[in-house]
Order: sequence, then structure tokens, then C-alpha cells
Amino acid sequence: MPAKKILVHDTTLRDGEQTPGVSLLPDEKLRIAKALDEIGVGVIEAGAAITSEGEQESIKKIAKEGLRAEISSFARIVKGDIDVALKCDVDSVFLVSPTSDLHIKYKLGIDREELMKRTLEAIDYSKAHGLIVDLCTEDGSRTDVDFLKKVLSAATDHKIDRFTVADTVGIMVPEKIFEIFTKLGKSKVPLGIHCHDDLGLATANTLSAVRAGASVVDVAVNGLGERAGNASLEEVVMALRLGYGLETGIKTEKIASISDLVERLTGVPVPPNKAIVGENAFTHEAGIHVDGILKKAETYEAIKPESVGARRTFVLGKHVGMKAVKKMLDDEKIPVTDDQLREVFNQVKYMGDKGKRVTNVDLEAISDSVLGISREKAIKVMELVAVAGNTITPTASVKIMIDGRVVVESSVGTGPVDAALNAIKHATRDVPFELVEYHVDSISGGADAVVKVMVKLKSKDRIITSQGAGTDIVLASVDALVNGLNSLMTRR
Ligand code: MN
Repeated sequence: MPAKKILVHDTTLRDGEQTPGVSLLPDEKLRIAKALDEIGVGVIEAGAAITSEGEQESIKKIAKEGLRAEISSFARIVKGDIDVALKCDVDSVFLVSPTSDLHIKYKLGIDREELMKRTLEAIDYSKAHGLIVDLCTEDGSRTDVDFLKKVLSAATDHKIDRFTVADTVGIMVPEKIFEIFTKLGKSKVPLGIHCHDDLGLATANTLSAVRAGASVVDVAVNGLGERAGNASLEEVVMALRLGYGLETGIKTEKIASISDLVERLTGVPVPPNKAIVGENAFTHEAGIHVDGILKKAETYEAIKPESVGARRTFVLGKHVGMKAVKKMLDDEKIPVTDDQLREVFNQVKYMGDKGKRVTNVDLEAISDSVLGISREKAIKVMELVAVAGNTITPTASVKIMIDGRVVVESSVGTGPVDAALNAIKHATRDVPFELVEYHVDSISGGADAVVKVMVKLKSKDRIITSQGAGTDIVLASVDALVNGLNSLMTRR
């Protein structure tokens, strides 16, 4: 029987930051830590204090913030590691002891006896200094289970607070993890599980450990972490709830926003097909599915999008059905006859067949042409200059026509695209909107590639997706924004 209460130990800021190419500034780590605290994570592993001075600064900042969560630092079974963790004022250490013979022999060059001695000394030292100790057996999944039990028993006698088994190399399958935890048996301290996704099984293995008695789950937002990453917070939390009826204390309706924050600050994009937090997780295109969902959402949606702070979207493409097109036209308040609907539908299918994603701005353009409406564009770009270089602040100036009025504006930015978009924003400051998403794809390879820019604009109750394309990324970006603004400004 699984434990009733599950403690979420989040390692986004430690193992997650060890994702190749990721390095967070102290203020960025603090922002993520606050968000983790807000969603109700029990333990925040804020980093490995021994890593660098910057890391110590980050951990100290987080520890000082007075968050509800327990703040932890990774530490090896080395006095020096524990000392720097103490300097950062953390509540606990994630004390890592490599228990597999492979690690003991080849990494440390010692034997089991010596490892046990060092481990217990590190525990004693940490406890003597008032730290909560989570003893993590590195490569624990490949450790001889009898030895693992010995370590657990000795460490428990030395007053550890939790005991975690790490599948450091991500080689386990659920049955093996179940077997290990079953063999560990009843423990006086809570047992934790730390899984990696090298076989795509991190979430499954974590659940299996819980089923066999583990009550602490190590996770990272968006499944970040070394190599293929760690078990992802969103998957584990939702699977525990929907599969086992187990609650973790996580406010799941904030999952989408913390996923966005981590994606933005780490620069690691969430794959569109990622469970729970991927762009496509609640997006439907196929006609049969959309038809079902419009009748009753549960037909093709087992997870309620609002339960994880996401929203359901329908996409127009070649798999689209007539009903979805009608629904989107209704949403955009575009009245059509049956014949007009069929014609719009055919054109959407045609674009979809050409491999194009049809946004709601495209849908408007199609329906305008079908309905024979010619619409004067509210905004026209007359001139645009964007400059960038190594000895200049990226700057852009625009001359645009808004409703027949000429407006000239300029702005700086982090790069030429940002500067150009800022200049347009200044020039259209009377139009209330928020740029909620900007996404660029290179369609063909190479430096002369065609880029496709997709933007999402939000104004009061409407969300508009529009796109621009071309070989010039600045112009394509401006096109996407202006297309969206024109749609927003068109009264229907
Ligand atoms: Mn790890």
C-alpha cells in the first residue's frame, strides 16, 4: 500500500540546473524558488553549495527568504561540502553517498567499509550542526540490496531524517524499482526515490517506488536534469493524483505557470508533445476528437486542462473537421451560411494539406475572402529601420499608419527584434494588448533560412495567434505582430 502522504522534493535548482547548457543567476534561482514554494513543494534543493561562490550566494538568498519549504543543499560525504552548506544557512543537506561497488571502487577507490565509515561520519557531522539529513545513495539502484539495507540501518541509527535511493543512471524499470523498495522493507525513516529518464521511465519508476513504500519523490519542473533529465514534477504529481488518488500538497493549477517560468529562465524549451505542460498537451486538431470534445470534454481529455492551469485549444489543419471550423468562426463572432462554412472549411483543409498551420488570423482572412469582405488594414508599416551591432544599443524606428494617422516612434531593445517590436508597441500604445508569446522557427536550414514567427496577443477576452515569415527575422517578427494587431483592431 502506498504511503498516505507524499513529500515533494524538488531538484529543479540542483539536478535541473545540471541540465547541459543551463546556468541560472542568483536572482533567477530565487524567482524559481519562490514559485516552487508557492505551488507547495515540501523541499527545495536549492543547489550544491560547494559548486561556486555564485551558487552559495544563490542558496543563501533562497534560505534567507523565509519560505515555507525546507531549503536543502546537495553535499558529498565530505566535511568541506557540509561546511559550505552550513554557511548558506540551509535547513537540510541532500547528503550523497555513492553506494554501488562500481562507484566505490572506480570513482572513490575505496571499499564498502571505508564508504560506510565516511558516510556515517558525514551524517554525524551534519546532525551535530543541526541539519536535517536526507541520505541519498548515489547509484543506489545498482547497489547490492543487502549492502543498501546495511547502509539504511546504520544511517537510521545515526539519526538520518530521510533515506533516498537514486537511480542515478536511469537504468531501472518499474518492476526492479518495486523489488528494491520491497526488499528494503519497513523503514523507520521516510524513503525517497530519485529517478532519471534515460529510458523514458523516470515517472513510472517513481510511481513504482511509491507503490512499494516510498513517500518522498524527487522531481524537477519540466523534467530537467542531467542527461535525459529527472522525473518531472508535473507528471509525477498528476499521475499520483489520477492514478493512485494520492495528494502531494502541490497546487496543480499553478503547474503551467511554473513550467513557463522555468522554460524561460533556463532557456530549455519544453517539447510540444511533453505530458501535462507541452504546447500540444491540450490542443486538438483531428475532427473526430474536436467533435467529441465539443459534445463532452471527457471523451478525449482525461486530464482537465484547468486542473494544471492550462487551456484547451483547437488547431486548424488538415485533420480538422467541419464542426471545429464552425466553433472557431463562432468564437471569432463571424457569421457564415452553410455554403460559406463549407468553402472556409475547404480552404482551411487546403492550407493544412500544404503543411501550414492555420491561425485564427488566417481563418479571418479566409472567411473575409469567402464572405467577400475587403477590409482596410488598420495598421500599415511605412518605414522600419532596426540597427544592431557590437558597439551600439539595438535600436529601431518605425513610421506606421494607424487608422489613417501617421505615427513615428523609436525604441531600444535587447536585440533588433526586441527593439522593433518595442517601437511598434510604442506607436500603438492606444491599442490595449499584451504580447504573451513569441516563437520563432527556422523552416529551411542555414543562415539564409526562411524563418517563421508566431506571436500570441492577448487583449481583454481575446487571444489572437498570428504569424509572419520571411528571410529577415526582424521583418517577419514585425509582420506577425502587425497581422495580430490588425485582427485585434478589426471590429466585427
Ligand atoms: Mn540526479
